[in-house]
Amino acid sequence: MNAIPRPHVTVIGAGIVGVCAAAWLQKSGFGVTLFDSEPVGHGASFGNAGNISPGAVVPYTLPGVMRALPGWLLDPEGPLAVRPSALFGVLPWLFAAAKNSTAEAALKTSRAMEALHSGTFEAYDAITRGTDAAGLIERSGQLYVSETPDGAQGSPLARAMRERAGVNVTLLTEAEIRDIEPALAPIFSSGVLLPDNGRCKNPQQLVQSIADECVRNGASIERGTVDGFETDGKCVNGIVVGGKLVPVERIVIAAGAASGKLAAMLGTRLPVTPERGYHITIADPGVALRVPVTHVDAKFVGSPMNMGLRLAGTAEFAGFDAPPNWKRATLLEKQARRMFPGVKLDKVTRWAGNRPSLPDGLPVLGRARGYENAYFAFGNSHFGMTAGPVMGRHLAEIVAGHTPGIDVTPFSPTRFQ
Ligand SMILES: Cc1cc2nc3c(=O)[nH]c(=O)nc-3n(C[C@H](O)[C@H](O)[C@H](O)COP(=O)(O)OP(=O)(O)OC[C@H]3O[C@@H](n4cnc5c(N)ncnc54)[C@H](O)[C@@H]3O)c2cc1C
Repeated sequence: MNAIPRPHVTVIGAGIVGVCAAAWLQKSGFGVTLFDSEPVGHGASFGNAGNISPGAVVPYTLPGVMRALPGWLLDPEGPLAVRPSALFGVLPWLFAAAKNSTAEAALKTSRAMEALHSGTFEAYDAITRGTDAAGLIERSGQLYVSETPDGAQGSPLARAMRERAGVNVTLLTEAEIRDIEPALAPIFSSGVLLPDNGRCKNPQQLVQSIADECVRNGASIERGTVDGFETDGKCVNGIVVGGKLVPVERIVIAAGAASGKLAAMLGTRLPVTPERGYHITIADPGVALRVPVTHVDAKFVGSPMNMGLRLAGTAEFAGFDAPPNWKRATLLEKQARRMFPGVKLDKVTRWAGNRPSLPDGLPVLGRARGYENAYFAFGNSHFGMTAGPVMGRHLAEIVAGHTPGIDVTPFSPTRFQ
């Protein structure tokens, strides 16, 4: 007897969002092919800080952020930079972000973030249980420290957002901060522990392990850049990969920061901007952290990983293809010395990658307007390692024609039109 062929989905992009989408689509009975121009997990998902944060309900676009912007931009060591060559292109994005930084808009964003982030561990559990990937995730807690007496808690609005969402927050004295992380310099006067947050011990390995499991379950992974679509106006019938047409039944665009370009080919214009971040990873650092530590004032994270200590952060608007400005990574070395006085910086590797960011701080999740068989899942900005498995779960529901388990209106692909 011939087996009934499974309905099929082609996923463009094998970062954390693409592989989680693939895993959930398989659970819903779809066959899956993943396409990526790079090896699996070599986009933004390669070099992030690995924070997995169900309690991430505070958007970056808070009231006051625009007042702080000029100071950050003028400070060569500040957490945010815009390359002069990119300024003109990024101005509309920054204006749109400014519009979203009212208290009312930020509260709406916070609720949407909660819907997407709060179930992250459960969603990871469901797709990694019994696999190598499960061992890479730990509910370790996360520490936030500041050099000012109230800085670690954030603004009253940030506190109210965490309280509303029921996020567990433990206030710490200076002594308690050092008890948790003795390697920290005695420069921090406030700290909070978010005990229900956690970490990934190696983000690229996690993406690879989920992809490997998808392959064991019948998925295939193809190397190639998707640079066009063949459509009949209602359906996408094929993708163009290296000049060759590959027939498809359904597609998902999960191409991270490059997704805006692909969505535009299908007639949906979305302001996805590459927001570049940097990391340094220090092998044999001479200090051992138990939990990821965010320096709230300088806006970077020190994360214990299975290959060493990683410091990651900074936001730079430079355009998609501009070469990295390694001074931003060198800055992280300076910060490592200040934050962890015992750190040894003999074996340091540097990395830069593009976060896929939209000006309202939310991703895009849903069906492409005008197409019956094309879907979008991208734009998780600073939170893709957290949101990835939840995006995948709800994307699979949408592709299967079910009502998604969360309100996806805030993530609508048409919200900017
Ligand atoms: C410095 C830094 C620190 C971060 N820290 C954290 C953190 O602690 N916690 C957290 O939750 N998030 C964090 N993030 C954010 C997180 O890394 C991203 O949101 C997430 O990795 C995005 O995943 P993605 O799958 O959407 O994109 P990507 O990982 O970029 O994957 C997209 C893939 O699509 C492929 N692709 C693109 N175009 C095409 C095409 N035309 N054809 C075929 N393939 C294509 C790319 O090669 C890539 O592999 C951080 C980001 C940075 C930069």
